[in-house]
Amino acid sequence: MGGREDQTAAVAEKLAVQEAKKDRGATVTTTMPEKEVTLKDLARNMAGFAADREWDQFHSPRNLLLALVGEVGELSEIFQWKGEVPRGLSDWNDAEKEHLGEELSDVLLYLVRLADVCNVDLGESALRKLQKNAIKYPVELCKGNSKKYRELAKKGTVRRNMNNTENMVYHERL
Ligand SMILES: [Mg+2]
Repeated sequence: MGGREDQTAAVAEKLAVQEAKKDRGATVTTTMPEKEVTLKDLARNMAGFAADREWDQFHSPRNLLLALVGEVGELSEIFQWKGEVPRGLSDWNDAEKEHLGEELSDVLLYLVRLADVCNVDLGESALRKLQKNAIKYPVELCKGNSKKYRELAKKGTVRRNMNNTENMVYHERL
């Protein structure tokens, strides 16, 4: 149940279905930008994809969130029962890697669409969050260990700023 052979067979079957669709002249509505793909490119393509099919009516935040969670499940299935796998996936075959790319893409596309219908600029928000994380996890306190910031705080003094946001300033204990 759920062995690698089963998954490889499932991938091969999926690819065969895709090839059959191409043979029947199925069209691809997404545009492939020549430059590096941005989150905004993906959001525009997703919006167009949904509009072409009149699926906008189904793309409520809640529905998109549930679809996203479903895709995270599909992504997890790829790793299920495999145990730890090496970075780079050197022992995976092409079909397995392609399947992984597809499920990662499904997760990303639903995430981008969810942010879009919620009027969240995902790129900007992600950069801001990264800056917050850099404050939460100062290099001098967390280099080489994976402790949560609350644990890290025990090593130093944590001072919340005046408006009590998540921003923290760490000072090494004297
Ligand atoms: Mg999927």
